[in-house]
Amino acid sequence: MTEPTVGFIGLGQMGVPMARNLLRAGFPVAGFDLNPQALALFSQQPNFMAMASAQLAAQASDALILMLPDSNVVDRLLWQDGSAAVSQHLRRGKLLVDMGSSDPVRSRDNAARLADLGIAFVDAPVSGGVKRAVDGSLSIMIGGDKPAIERLRPMFQALGKTLVHVGAAGAGHAVKALNNYVSAAGLLAVCEALVAAEKFGIDAHLVNQVFNASTGKNNTTEHKVEAFMLSDTFNSGFAMALMRKDLQTAQGFIERMDTPGDFAAACLNGWAQAEMGLDKGADHTAMYRFVKKAP
Ligand code: NAD
Repeated sequence: MTEPTVGFIGLGQMGVPMARNLLRAGFPVAGFDLNPQALALFSQQPNFMAMASAQLAAQASDALILMLPDSNVVDRLLWQDGSAAVSQHLRRGKLLVDMGSSDPVRSRDNAARLADLGIAFVDAPVSGGVKRAVDGSLSIMIGGDKPAIERLRPMFQALGKTLVHVGAAGAGHAVKALNNYVSAAGLLAVCEALVAAEKFGIDAHLVNQVFNASTGKNNTTEHKVEAFMLSDTFNSGFAMALMRKDLQTAQGFIERMDTPGDFAAACLNGWAQAEMGLDKGADHTAMYRFVKKAP
């Protein structure tokens, strides 16, 4: 195999289908995940090479992509892992691409610190969930400088259908957190509405059918209620803990931007309660179960 073009760290629910699509598009990919089982499973892909993070940083010839849980993990990996810290191994001219849902302010700091080392930072978080990660139709919101983004465009095109450059470094992560706030608010509203209707004796399937033909329609009513909530499967592939983290990021950002945020704070509180009340590892669609069981 030639020197890997793309390094990919974080082979979880989203990382696996994304890395697979890069391989399918012909990019040589090398990758790493802290979870040995996840890494072993993905290592069976043809043309894939498993490598430790520091080695990936040194050897990925073009871009190093991160698909990690949050900014704490990203910052530790970049700066705090001693001699294994990724920033110590990236060569000048490389691209560091954070595609997870990180904190916009911390991403802006990372961009500045990496620029001092001659490394361009691009934030390119995604929306669409596991389903759209699998079929390569993610929505990608991109922050950073144009030349770096143009270099990455062929990789982004292998991963997503809608690519929008929303601003400077950190702007992609800001838009992602705000998108998930709007989505989480809609999901919580749908759960409360469905459960209240059921308690009145109305069939939840019929309620959702009406929402989908009326102004109450949203992403949850269209894609989650039947598939993951009323089917009792709660397995969309997006964890409750990650949604709560995104809401915390959005609420903190709204506050920092000196914007009225009472509704965001109430929404975050609702999701934090659900996270505490459900099993560790619960899917975010289990919000419906939580609301249904609440006294
Ligand atoms: P996940 O928990 O399934 O995957 C994260 C992976 O990162 C895990 O496999 C974990 O072992 C690995 N990891 C953690 N620390 C590491 C380290 N130091 N080095 C190497 N690997 C490490 O999460 P996910 O659902 O794939 O989400 C990843 C990111 O994408 C998150 O920021 C999430 O908010 C965002 N996101 C998720 C979805 C979704 O539907 N799941 C959709 C859009 C965005």
